[in-house]
Amino acid sequence: MVLCNCKVYRISGFICDYNRLLRHYKTKKGVIPVTASRILHKLNHAQKTAVTTVSGPLLIVAGPGTGKTLTIIRRIAYLIDTGVSPENILAVTFTNRAANEMRERAEAVLDSRCSRIFIGTFHLLGLRILRENLSDDFTILGRDEQLSLIKALLEKSRGRARRVAERISRIKNFAGRAEDEIKDIYEAYQSALKKQSALDFDDLILRPLGMLAENGLLEKYRDRFRYIIVDEYQDINPAQYKLLALLAGSAGNICAVGDSDQAIYSFRGADMDSFLNFEKDFRDARKVFLSDSYRSTGTILGASGSLIKNNNRRIDRKISTVRERGVPVRIISVPDERMEGETIIREIEQRIGGTSHYQMRHAARGGEFAEASYSFADFAVIFRTNAQAGAIEDAFIKSGIPCQVIGRSAPPAGAAEMTGDEAALMTPADFFDPRADAVTLMTLHMAKGLEFRVVFITGVEEGLIPYTLNQDMDSIDMEEERRLFYVGMTRAGDELFLIHARKRFLYGQRLTPAPSPFIGEIPGEFIHRTVVSGRDKRRKQNKQMGLF
Ligand code: ATP
Ligand code: MG
Repeated sequence: MVLCNCKVYRISGFICDYNRLLRHYKTKKGVIPVTASRILHKLNHAQKTAVTTVSGPLLIVAGPGTGKTLTIIRRIAYLIDTGVSPENILAVTFTNRAANEMRERAEAVLDSRCSRIFIGTFHLLGLRILRENLSDDFTILGRDEQLSLIKALLEKSRGRARRVAERISRIKNFAGRAEDEIKDIYEAYQSALKKQSALDFDDLILRPLGMLAENGLLEKYRDRFRYIIVDEYQDINPAQYKLLALLAGSAGNICAVGDSDQAIYSFRGADMDSFLNFEKDFRDARKVFLSDSYRSTGTILGASGSLIKNNNRRIDRKISTVRERGVPVRIISVPDERMEGETIIREIEQRIGGTSHYQMRHAARGGEFAEASYSFADFAVIFRTNAQAGAIEDAFIKSGIPCQVIGRSAPPAGAAEMTGDEAALMTPADFFDPRADAVTLMTLHMAKGLEFRVVFITGVEEGLIPYTLNQDMDSIDMEEERRLFYVGMTRAGDELFLIHARKRFLYGQRLTPAPSPFIGEIPGEFIHRTVVSGRDKRRKQNKQMGLF
């Protein structure tokens, strides 16, 4: 069942509007803006339409790699280039890292005027509104401080405190009321926060929401943020939606960009309905559909597309790639998690000039450097849980290939200049440094919005993908797990590896998992299977050792 098989409208008249714009500039300023051609450079017709349709509500619906984020960046530059003041633009992104990247890329297309736009997460926006309007000083409670506070109130274990914290967060994310069973602790928690003049993360949305509705501040902010742009709209929660809807008004200039197949945060209260209901919520909303994918090869797009078709709750849409068919998706069965790491190292080394990192450095010292068309930053290793990171990282340390494990690196660039408040808003995903010459290791959730030429998804096994280990089966959202895997698969541009181990040591248990049932949803025409045997393992280990 497809819940919302929405009709897609192609917006005509872009060319005519743009010509009018050029004429406008010609008569008013005597010149055609040279930047305009740069802003629209290389965009396809639908992307140009999305960039230049700037008044009224607009929904950009598109699959992975179709240039949604690129379109937003160009739209920001376009708005400024056509005379909109940077202060009148509000761009909301999912991570601080994505915000910084967006600002830098908009500046590169246009100029430093883009630095004056508010680009940030919902939490940063909330913090800005609070700072501008709350007379009293306040502190923001980090997750650990929040847990300690709840633990002290409950006089119970940290595990129970964590579950209560999740429930409190859900209530706040839904901007709802506490039900009876949690009401007492919720109220005690809120009054403890008040006593300490403290706010938790969720309050950064909830408090501004209350303030805007009550204090007549709305007009001020509506007047300031006349153009609103939101990336990853499929993942906003009801409280964030309410904040956005208030700021935009029902016919405001709001541009929401998203892909319902990439909604992966419902466990944190994100609500795909906001996405599916956009046209109902915003009067005279128009919709643009981007259908050309620039990132992934035909096989990667075909394999991931076949998988996601098994979900019912989605907007069905066609995507075709502008790229070649490419090599098949590789499905590799390995004996255990150690060989999983070593298999990845071997594949990376083959691509980095067919030689090891150490050999390359050695060759460089001798005046000869093996020519490599890949850099380490072109590779990513993605897994379902952080618990899998250790075994993979060990393999990288042994090989000498540099890697960055997202969430565990040195503070990201720019963190030093942040104020204590802002630094509290950093999330693990912000610790990705796209400039580092290193292979990126991260969870599927962290991978959202990123792209790499070669992607290895590890632990593609029953129990991990979909994640069912130690879970109550009723609580598992199979469609969300499929979307998460889809997000991982579609990070890949040239090559995708899906690796499953026949034995795995995880959470202190020896597991003998079957391959993920999701592998069975990918048609044979897109895949190539390889089995690494236990015997191979010893031989290959010896070969690895020989390299040093
Ligand atoms: P996701 O859904 O994963 O967030 P997305 O739709 O936001 O993906 P982008 O990250 O904006 O896609 O773009 C994917 C890649 O395609 C980027 O490398 C981008 O530079 C490239 N790209 C997008 N549009 C074009 C175009 N018109 N011409 C050439 N390359 C393009
Ligand atoms: Mg994107």
